[in-house]
Amino acid sequence: PISPELHAATGERYDALDLPGDPGDPGVADDPARAAFLAEHGGDVVAIVCSNLSPVPASLIEALPRLGVIANHGVGYDNVDVDVALARGIAVSHTPDVLDDAVAETALALLLAARRRIVTADLFVRDGAWSKGAFPLTDQVSGSRVGILGLGRIGRAVARRLEAFGCAISYHNRRPVPGVDYAYAASPAELAAGVDNLIVIVPGGPGTEGLVDAAVLDALGPRGLLVNVARGSVVDEDALVAALQEGRLGGAALDVFAREPEVPAALLVRDDVVLAPHVGSATHETRAAMRRLTLDNLDDWLATGTLRTPIPEMSASPGEGGE
Ligand code: NDP
Repeated sequence: PISPELHAATGERYDALDLPGDPGDPGVADDPARAAFLAEHGGDVVAIVCSNLSPVPASLIEALPRLGVIANHGVGYDNVDVDVALARGIAVSHTPDVLDDAVAETALALLLAARRRIVTADLFVRDGAWSKGAFPLTDQVSGSRVGILGLGRIGRAVARRLEAFGCAISYHNRRPVPGVDYAYAASPAELAAGVDNLIVIVPGGPGTEGLVDAAVLDALGPRGLLVNVARGSVVDEDALVAALQEGRLGGAALDVFAREPEVPAALLVRDDVVLAPHVGSATHETRAAMRRLTLDNLDDWLATGTLRTPIPEMSASPGEGGE
């Protein structure tokens, strides 16, 4: 599934076909409608347009012998089997930079909502509780210690906003970022141990699966807040639920989940969590820019064989890996 606007724009330019089958179904590769589609059209398809909701596994790539480009609407491309695509010389594009401001805004909105208990306060007013007493005091974000796990394009946009709040900023990447003054922590657990609020904004995929585990959550501690705007796979969701239930973690603000759109029932009943339905980049402005960039990549590749924003692995030397 891609947005109706991107779907329409692709159809206006090209002979676009909809791949049948529910992408959320693990058995979709065996879907008879998909098999029939691939038998009829698989030999003609030269390009895929997809989003993080559309898995592009090895089985699909292998069924498309003329496939030359995968244009992903999104900066994260953990939905695409990149190793298989690149081994076949297939180009893969994504949409970096244009969504940094929107995702950083979402991270700040979740941080502020959780710390100042804005969602609970809204319900308090609507329920008429205000006339019966004052709302409990909350914790300030300004001046707090914030750790950023993944100080990349979006992480730095988050950090710039936190500077305006007078926060003490630290971060962890696999390598320190040259020329950055924020304190570097050598591991996610070390980062978590030194902050009040931990914002997770690394890429998804096997390289970061479960990076935020029970030990990291324990290091963050009973007064600590976890904000995840990265991918659900980065946080051990069972460990997160257990830490909240056992009072070992102060709270969580989550835009992403392990099995979207499924959200653990144990989270739905808690008022120390704030939940959002994967809306990090979901503004009119940003989605229009992402759509343009996706189409620019597709147009360029079909016209000239080049991409505007190839994924970093396309320029990485063999064995380097990228993210
Ligand atoms: P970047 O590639 O610019 O930044 C990623 C950062 O993560 C880098 O600083 C990288 O540093 C660090 N990193 C990567 N792997 C690890 C690791 N194993 N351990 C520690 N740090 C790591 O990406 P963006 O900032 O553009 O985007 C980040 C991610 O945000 C996307 O991949 C996507 O999954 C997510 N996202 C979520 C959205 C939402 O709707 N919630 C919307 C948009 C993006 P180094 O390589 O030195 O380790």
